[in-house]
Amino acid sequence: MINIRIEKTATPKTLPSQDNPLNFGTIFTDHMFIMNYDPQNGWNDARVVPYEKICLEPSSMVFHYGQEMFEGLKAYKTGDERILLFRPEKNAQRANNTNKRLCIPEIPVEDFVEAVKTLVKTDEKWVPTKEGTSLYIRPFIIATDPFLGVRPSDTYMFIIILSPVGAYYPEGLNPVRIWIEDEYVRAVKGGIGETKTGGNYVASMKSQVKAHDAGYSQVLWLDGVHRKYIEEVGAMNIFFKINGEVVTPALSGSILPGVTRDTVLELCKAWGVPASEKRISIDEIYEAYENGTLEEVFGTGTAAVISPVGELKWGDKTLIVNDGKIGDFSRKFYDTVTGIQLGNIKDEFGWTVEV
Ligand SMILES: *Cc1c(COP(=O)(O)O)cnc(C)c1O
Repeated sequence: MINIRIEKTATPKTLPSQDNPLNFGTIFTDHMFIMNYDPQNGWNDARVVPYEKICLEPSSMVFHYGQEMFEGLKAYKTGDERILLFRPEKNAQRANNTNKRLCIPEIPVEDFVEAVKTLVKTDEKWVPTKEGTSLYIRPFIIATDPFLGVRPSDTYMFIIILSPVGAYYPEGLNPVRIWIEDEYVRAVKGGIGETKTGGNYVASMKSQVKAHDAGYSQVLWLDGVHRKYIEEVGAMNIFFKINGEVVTPALSGSILPGVTRDTVLELCKAWGVPASEKRISIDEIYEAYENGTLEEVFGTGTAAVISPVGELKWGDKTLIVNDGKIGDFSRKFYDTVTGIQLGNIKDEFGWTVEV
């Protein structure tokens, strides 16, 4: 079991006012977690220290060849002042899948979860309480060898930082408009699309800018080979409800296996809603739209839990989904998951972990 040293800050910051919107990823707490890796000692020197700048050589490998990974999860404060994490071992397992693919040394699942818990506990007063708010947790690993040759680094830093975040939808669940990208691609099977790493994001920025300029909030990716099969949205997985059945693209190797995606599939099982993971072409979606069976479209991810999609733009075609309103399934899923996360609904699944 990991042994974590705690060094508390002598100069705590003023907590942000919860009356102002907490803009995503702009404010950081008093502390951070750091652990180092080298081949002799493995992962070592686990510590919680004051949040501060880190010092790296300009030649550090992460700056040149992108050997880095990240995760994203949240801590929530319940009505009775407990702090809950949602399925953190899923993030730890996914982190190791990413690590394996990117030649980064793995971290035992228990150690990853313990590091998250210890840091959140240290900064517990930073977990906001206002409705819809939470403490965003960003674990990441960077390659630190000072070397310009191409090979996996021998040394790494595993860091966790925390950021209080506001309600994703301050005005309630609002459907988003999505642009279907048919020029650029994000990932192909055999590449790194199923890992959580910066490289996938830099590959997506050009399209993101294009979609924004056209008035759309996110991009829906098609597969890199045929430009025909649905993959996922920006930082969310995608679901369709067609004629009573919930469908989502199968994990083909180029799609990120989202924790929220898995949670939808588990809840469908529990609720007896027919659901399946399969290959879905954009033509099938258009056909369902044309014959009136496309009932709901929604994205899933930790940041928003669920993002109802009100419009899909595919070339010159505009698909308005459910009159641009939130569907019943989307609403029920959102209410159930946020209810479990906040301790307002009994967690029959064992998904929450108390800090
Ligand atoms: C993180 C992420 C998701 C959503 O995963 P969750 O575990 O549900 O937050 C989906 N797609 C991509 C590309 C991601 O990076």
